[in-house]
Amino acid sequence: MINIPKGTKDVLPSESYKWHFIENKIRELTRKFCVNEIRTPTFEHTELFLRGVGDGTDIVGKEMYTFLDKGERSITLKPEGTAGVARAFIENALDNTPLPVKMYYLSPVFRYERPQAGRLREHHQFGVEFYGSDDAFIDAEVIMLASELLYELDIPVTLNINSIGCSECRKKYNDALKAYLKSNLSEMCKDCNERFEKNTLRILDCKNERCKEINQSAPKIIEYLCDDCRKHFEQLQGVLNDNNVKFNVNPYIVRGLDYYTKTVFEFIAEAGGDKLTVCGGGRYDNLVESIGGRPMPAVGFGMGLERLLLLAEQTGGVSGAPNAPYIYIAPMGEDAKYEAFELVRKLRAAGVAADTDYMNRSVKSQMKYADKLGVRLIVVIGDDEIKKGEVTIKDMRTKETKTVATESLINCIAR
Ligand code: ATP
Ligand code: MG
Repeated sequence: MINIPKGTKDVLPSESYKWHFIENKIRELTRKFCVNEIRTPTFEHTELFLRGVGDGTDIVGKEMYTFLDKGERSITLKPEGTAGVARAFIENALDNTPLPVKMYYLSPVFRYERPQAGRLREHHQFGVEFYGSDDAFIDAEVIMLASELLYELDIPVTLNINSIGCSECRKKYNDALKAYLKSNLSEMCKDCNERFEKNTLRILDCKNERCKEINQSAPKIIEYLCDDCRKHFEQLQGVLNDNNVKFNVNPYIVRGLDYYTKTVFEFIAEAGGDKLTVCGGGRYDNLVESIGGRPMPAVGFGMGLERLLLLAEQTGGVSGAPNAPYIYIAPMGEDAKYEAFELVRKLRAAGVAADTDYMNRSVKSQMKYADKLGVRLIVVIGDDEIKKGEVTIKDMRTKETKTVATESLINCIAR
C-alpha cells in the first residue's frame, strides 16, 4: 500500500463542492473588484525565489522543495505566489499595459514544514497582486477585498496593520532594534541569533515564546518612519476608518518575507481556541526591481485556502452539495436499459442532472441507491412502460406520482 506523502491532502469527490463554493466566491469578488486571474507555472528557477523572496527568510532558508532536473537546472516548486507573478509581469512587459494591473491567482504552494493543524507541505493560496500604484487607497482596496471574502464566508477575524517603511526608515530602525536586542541575544533562540546579523527585522516574526516576550518591548518601527511613509500609513488608516473597516495597529508585525515595504497586514482568526493567520499581505515596492524589472510599486496578499475552509466550516459559512442526479431513471430489465440510457442523454441535453443504473441492480436497490444520493425524481421504466409509451415520475420529496407520455418527460422536467 502506497500512502499519501506527509503534509499533503486529498480532496475527495464528496467534499470538492466546498472548494468550488469558496472558489466561486473568489471569482465573484474579483469580478466586482475588476481583477483578472494570472496563472504561472508550478515550478520556477530557484534563483527567482532566492532573489525575490530573499535567502534570509524561513521560506527560502528552510522550506523550499528544490531539485536538479535532468538538465542539471536548479528548479523549485513555488513556495509562495508573488515572485512568479512578478517574473511574469516583467517577462511579458505588463508594465507597458495600462496601470494599475490588478491580478489574482489560485495556486498550490509547497513548503517543507512540520505538518500540524493548519500547516501542510502542499497548501493552496488565493492571492492578489496590484501593480503600478503607490496610492494608499489601493492598499485599502486590497485589504477590503480580503476582508469582504472573510465576511462572505462568515469568518470572524481581527485585522492587524503596520508599516515597516522604506529602506531609508528601515536603516534607522534596524540600528535601534539591534541596540535593543543586543543585550537579550543570549536568551534568544538559535535562529534569532543568526537573524541578528543577516536580517534583524525578521526576529520580530519569531514564534519562540521567550523571543516573543523579548520582542514585546522592542522599539516600534512606526516611530521611525520618514515623512512620506508616515503620511502613507496615516492615509491608509483614514480610508479604512471612513469605510468602517475595523483594524488594530500592531507595531510588531513584519511578515515573513523580505520584499515588503510600507504597509503590512494580517487577518487573524480563531480555530479551536488557537489563533490562526488566515491571510497576510502588504506592499512590496522593491520586488520588481530586485528581480530585474523597472521600479514598480505593488501591493497584495496571500490567503491560505485550507485554513479558509477549516474556518468557514466551523462557522457554517460553506454551503452546497456534491453533484448528484436531480432525476434518476431506473430500468427494469434488459430492453429498458436502452430506453433509460437514451432518456438520460436527452435529459442532459436539456440541462438536467440525470443518471441511470450501471451496476445491474434490482429496482429495489436502485431506489435505495437513489435515495442515498438525495435524488429528487425517480422514473421506473420496464416492458409495460415501453409498450404504453408512458412513464411514472415519483417525487421523492412530496411522495407524489405523475404519469406522463415518455415523449413529454423532458418538457415536464426541464420546463
Ligand atoms: P505562518 O506564520 O503561519 O507560517 P506565513 O507567514 O509563512 O504563515 P504567508 O507566507 O504569508 O504565511 O502565506 C499566506 C497564507 O498562507 C498564510 O496566512 C496561511 O493562511 C497560509 N499558509 C502558509 N503556510 C501554510 C502551510 N504550511 N499550510 C497551510 N497554509 C499555509
Ligand atoms: Mg510560514
